[in-house]
Amino acid sequence: MDADYLFNQTVEYLKTAQHVVISTGAGISAESGIATFRAPSTGLWSRYKSGELATAEAFKRNPSLVWGWYTWRRMQVANAQPNTAHRAVAAMAQCLPHMTLITQNVDDLHERAGSQDPIHLHGHLATARCFTCSQPYLDTLPIVVDPDAGPLEPPRCQHCEGLIRPNVVWFGERMPENEMKRARIAAFDCDVMLSIGTSGSVAPAVYLPTIAAENGAWVVHINLEADSTAPGNTLIGPATHWLPKLAQALLSA
Ligand code: NAD
Repeated sequence: MDADYLFNQTVEYLKTAQHVVISTGAGISAESGIATFRAPSTGLWSRYKSGELATAEAFKRNPSLVWGWYTWRRMQVANAQPNTAHRAVAAMAQCLPHMTLITQNVDDLHERAGSQDPIHLHGHLATARCFTCSQPYLDTLPIVVDPDAGPLEPPRCQHCEGLIRPNVVWFGERMPENEMKRARIAAFDCDVMLSIGTSGSVAPAVYLPTIAAENGAWVVHINLEADSTAPGNTLIGPATHWLPKLAQALLSA
């Protein structure tokens, strides 16, 4: 489908929508300098596949390596700024009757751009909990001067002395039940879904556009490349190109 036609159609659907879902993945934060999972890592971490560090097995095998990598990622996020796509998402919420924001991202760039209460399907980098007893870790997480410093000994739990792990959902772990339920209900209920910057390779987030499309929603992806297996059409290009344009069209409607 022609990009201008698809864009204009999407604006028309947005103008009359009762409930819009915006679902985001790592691509929306890529232009803030946060690497996606598929992009090659830099420096020390280029030797590791991120998918292989984001598992409970990896943490059990080498907790310092995994904690060091997550500390590096946390520092990357702390030093990054929300981009125009994050800000456009927050602006769109102001001119839509009902918008639900769902993110697979573990950064806080949506919140820092002004979005209220995004549903974080995969947890948060900024918090941590005990690997053994799951109690939240309440002390300040370490700040590292050199983000490329490498492996770092995780702190110990104040309750059971277990090792502290990041509060994110690792590959092979269960999704947070409440967040997943809210996301499914929103996908089922919406009349427009914008799915932004996700490779659609992580279940069950990948099923949200299908749920929306099967229930009659207009589903549009924004991505650098089209995925022919995903339901709906794709506006090809960076999120920072398309989202401000969509927000502008809505604001001037
Ligand atoms: P992914 O790395 O699998 O895919 C990223 C997608 O974004 C790709 O399809 C790519 O083509 C697209 N993309 C890249 N730059 C873009 C841009 N400027 N505009 C639009 N699209 C762009 O990421 P995913 O699908 O989110 O899933 C992988 C997992 O990685 C998730 O579980 C997520 O928690 C985790 N992750 C999160 C962050 C973060 O919080 N910022 C970063 C890396 C990975």
